[in-house]
Amino acid sequence: MTAAGVEIVDAHKWYGTHHVLDGVDLTVEPGQVAVILGPSGSGKSTLLRAINHLEKLDVGHVSLNGELIGVRRIPDGRHRDRLRELPEREIRRQRRRIGFVFQNFNLFPNLTVRHNVASAPVATGALSKTEADALARDLLARVGLSDKADAYPRQLSGGQQQRVAIARALALRPGVLLFDEPTSALDPELVGEVLAVIKDLAATGTTMIVVTHEIGFAREVADVVVLLDHGRIVEQGPPAEVLDAPRHPRTREFLSRVL
Ligand code: ADP
Ligand code: MG
Repeated sequence: MTAAGVEIVDAHKWYGTHHVLDGVDLTVEPGQVAVILGPSGSGKSTLLRAINHLEKLDVGHVSLNGELIGVRRIPDGRHRDRLRELPEREIRRQRRRIGFVFQNFNLFPNLTVRHNVASAPVATGALSKTEADALARDLLARVGLSDKADAYPRQLSGGQQQRVAIARALALRPGVLLFDEPTSALDPELVGEVLAVIKDLAATGTTMIVVTHEIGFAREVADVVVLLDHGRIVEQGPPAEVLDAPRHPRTREFLSRVL
């Protein structure tokens, strides 16, 4: 599928009285890579999950290639014109256009690596079993795991499991890929192999939003770096600006802690 652009407009989310997303506006152009940085609890996962409909926004909207995805109830009536709920069926259809890679891989433990990758396009009816199997082999080759096709997840290292998870996300040919701290659960010596796979994908022009604390990766791969703090974007721009010449004191403080 051709790469999609993502637009997030005035995203708000409350958990009770906790205002977790406080008016986030972010545009990621087709084929661009956005890296989201920010302290723990700043709302990074909530933002990614809202893009994928795993959470519903209370205010605001997300669109993928100009097509609205998920709009939710408005508490104050200011945005009444935007009020619209999408039917479940439509949400499922849209979700298939978005690949999501989690911190903890979330592979199916009882399926082989090959079936982990092939199952989704068969389940959605996108591909026949034979086609999905061929695609799985291609994708496993792409992440360097051809020899593990018939292994089970528990037989793989964390880095290999995460590469399978990436292949699985690609199997639905998504327009955009979301990564939520894809290397945070890995032993340090396994981080590089996963980042290398993500970097390869970036070079193919896949639209990606990556939450990570890997500043070196952000500097090398990101088109835009975003610093989220208390549910707000405090700074965004090219890595050379945000990482090397940050303007906002919160960005400087954050970078001094992770670098
Ligand atoms: P990050 O990924 O940046 O660490 P999160 O988006 O996970 O931050 O969480 C942002 C804030 O929202 C945190 O304070 C977290 O405790 C809170 N939060 C996240 N999910 C829930 C939930 N389901 N219910 C209540 N609070 C939540
Ligand atoms: Mg998180």
